[in-house]
Amino acid sequence: MKFSENIQNIVFQYVSDIVTGQEQEAYVIGGFVRDLILGRGSKDVDIVVEGSGIKLARDVAHRIDPKIRVSYFKSYGTAMFRYKDTEYEFVGARKESYNHDSRNPIVEDGTVKDDQLRRDFTINALALSLHQDNYGELIDPFNGYSDLKRGIIRTPRDPKVTFSDDPLRMLRAIRFATQLNFHIDEEAFDAIVSNVERLKIISKERINEELHKIILAPEPSVGFKLLAKSGILSYVFPELSAMQGVEKREGMAHKDNFFHSLKVLDNLARLTDDLWLRWAALLHDIGKPRTKRFVEEHGWTFHGHEYKGAKMIPGIFKRMKLPLNQKMKYVQKMVSLHMRPIILVEDEVTDSAVRRLLFEAGDEIDDLMTLCEADITSKNHEKVQRYLHNYQIVRKKLLEVEQKDRVRNFQPPITGEMIMQAFDIGPSRIIGDIKQAIKNAILDGEISNNFDDAWAFMEGFAAENNLKFVRSKNDITLIQGQAKSEDDR
Ligand code: ATP
Ligand code: MG
Repeated sequence: MKFSENIQNIVFQYVSDIVTGQEQEAYVIGGFVRDLILGRGSKDVDIVVEGSGIKLARDVAHRIDPKIRVSYFKSYGTAMFRYKDTEYEFVGARKESYNHDSRNPIVEDGTVKDDQLRRDFTINALALSLHQDNYGELIDPFNGYSDLKRGIIRTPRDPKVTFSDDPLRMLRAIRFATQLNFHIDEEAFDAIVSNVERLKIISKERINEELHKIILAPEPSVGFKLLAKSGILSYVFPELSAMQGVEKREGMAHKDNFFHSLKVLDNLARLTDDLWLRWAALLHDIGKPRTKRFVEEHGWTFHGHEYKGAKMIPGIFKRMKLPLNQKMKYVQKMVSLHMRPIILVEDEVTDSAVRRLLFEAGDEIDDLMTLCEADITSKNHEKVQRYLHNYQIVRKKLLEVEQKDRVRNFQPPITGEMIMQAFDIGPSRIIGDIKQAIKNAILDGEISNNFDDAWAFMEGFAAENNLKFVRSKNDITLIQGQAKSEDDR
């Protein structure tokens, strides 16, 4: 089979000229060839040469444009350059052997066949010749083309050896199965099951990279079901694994929270590509196993699971080495607030409840609503429509209240600094109490969100609590005005 038409760019042409002139063999290999046959675009190209990859990269780059910067990784014998937003990586064909404690192989020079044999899956071991004599010819010693057409993930060598050598490949298998909607060959899957413990030599960062790719796939549930079935999930993510299963008492069963979470994640995947919102969908009910209760004559409850779940997030992120920054805070916020919008559906709901949610969710309110909409997993179409309609009502209420009161990015009209100056007291509990009281009065709609109203409210608070003003409202506005103009300078 020939794919010469598909590899007509200038980089491939120069590689071809150079290696043909030097009577060498070079091939474009791996993910690029796989994606080309699948009709998916890809922005990284691997070229393998029976000879020095570094020298070939340098020669090719020089012919295209001497100004192109080539980066080298001497110890790996690879070189790379960027041309027209594609990355070209060059490497000498090699043979690999492994020792037990590391996924980094011992390498020696080899033929292209050796190089294909060291690759993880047959679909990733396809090569197209760049030599003029058979330009574009598919070199496929392991029937990868047929696996690609049938949607099968299979290893060129004994899968037990492949996965034990480099256990990251087990996650790659599941990741490709998810991204491409492929089936993992049975023998390969069994080998994954028996090698789960080998994952201990893989860094958490690498594991996360694959988890992120699974989560970003069009139907992430495919991957998580495979992770669960293979035993990998309970090894890398026990809290998620603990969500599996249903329990029945007095004829009452609760739903399987693992499958429910996956359904929510799939639903959300249709609405957004945001990685962290997808993480939030996966984790929104993570607190359920630890809050599960059976209440006689009532059934199963998971009271407070959203708060429990939010509390669990830092521990999970820390252990898994996920980021502990605002990404984590964001996921926590989504988890803790996911039960809130539904309460706002009721006709009698007050503006105050709407304002509170707006204030707490801030700029993430739209993401929260998207998560809630994805959280509707009923099989009853009529019910789904009714729930979606309810959330439309909530969105409308949110919009109306926000337009009226602007609490989404609430800044208190009276700052702690102003309070300290007004009463001449240092930082203390009472300052927080006053701020909190003003905030509540605004969110409850007792007063409007402006300085004058807040000051009047504070006067009342001071009288009730025997606090004495040492500065007047005018003084404070003057001091603030001065401070502000100094800031502006
Ligand atoms: P993607 O770029 O979508 O992550 P890919 O298959 O191109 O997928 P890369 O990491 O770019 O993955 O690797 C390029 C090629 O290198 C693969 O197609 C495969 O042939 C080989 N490869 C990558 N990782 C491994 C591994 N852990 N074991 C064996 N071969 C691998
Ligand atoms: Mg790639």
